[in-house]
Amino acid sequence: MQRLTLTRPDDWHLHLRDGAAMWDVVPHTVRQFGRAIVMPNLKPPIATVADALVYRSRILEARPAGTAFEPLMTLYLTDSTPPDEIRRVAEEPNVAALKLYPAGATTHSEAGVRRLEGIYPVLEAMERHGVPLLVHGEVTDPDVDIFDREKVFIDRHLAGIAARFPELRIVLEHVTTRDGVQFVRDSGPRIGATLTAHHLLYNRNALLAGGVRPHFYCLPVLKRESHRFALLEAATSGNPKFFLGTDSAPHPRTQKESACGCAGCYTAHAAIELYAEAFEAAGALDKLEAFASFHGADFYRLPRNRERIVLERSEWKVPERLPFGDAELIPVKAGETLHWRLVEPT
Ligand SMILES: [Zn+2]
Repeated sequence: MQRLTLTRPDDWHLHLRDGAAMWDVVPHTVRQFGRAIVMPNLKPPIATVADALVYRSRILEARPAGTAFEPLMTLYLTDSTPPDEIRRVAEEPNVAALKLYPAGATTHSEAGVRRLEGIYPVLEAMERHGVPLLVHGEVTDPDVDIFDREKVFIDRHLAGIAARFPELRIVLEHVTTRDGVQFVRDSGPRIGATLTAHHLLYNRNALLAGGVRPHFYCLPVLKRESHRFALLEAATSGNPKFFLGTDSAPHPRTQKESACGCAGCYTAHAAIELYAEAFEAAGALDKLEAFASFHGADFYRLPRNRERIVLERSEWKVPERLPFGDAELIPVKAGETLHWRLVEPT
């Protein structure tokens, strides 16, 4: 196969940041994706519909002229989110969901939820209004091994929430373990999961073997090969509960290459090409379109995109570094060769 034509995909989990740096990353996403679920973990977090719409207008300003990319906004669920805000979300088509970060789980998650029982009235309102809950599924308990935090979150919290709110639609974001895949697969159709390109392509050796490679440090952290294999199986299975979400998360190079580096891998520069590499390696390129372009839209009850994109088999070298405001960032596969390239839309 030399050319691959796909319905234009969407990115169901994306970090765009803000300010001048955002202007450098928005065009990467716009080039490939029709829509993206934009994460709210700015500082301070995006916690109200009003804040989300102002942030959205800044994103639209950074959108290259003549493109139709649509940012779908999310609110940051905090201990003090009023249940009333959920009605406003339900009435606002540009705000799609709320994101639950356990406090301290990842970048800018200090404002996250400390006590899940405290947000039950909000979850109840979300269930009633049909607003999806997006979950960073890791406990933050320092006693729990970092490689086990996803499984422990599912056992201690997520299974209970799913049972208590049987109509609530939930996305287990950036699922990284066999256990997470199993949980999603065994749950009803209202529970889905996003899968990142980097978790499909790499296991923890990329981060730790032969030297620490901080640009592979992300949360949830890369896991062992048997987990990567389970993710790849889920992504290529055709099961509509699994869909594309890059979790592309840019940081300035100096904050990654540091004694206490930030979590996040940057993949937006070549996201669909990276997924194509992973699917091709699994012999499942024919499953890429549904995963990238259909399942997420269906889960969110949005129309599928109508435009198409074309990937061509041709080798190209990923830049060593990319501009990021007044800093620079190191993308995944920096300086390496990719085998699929996005060409202009048909
Ligand atoms: Zn994320």
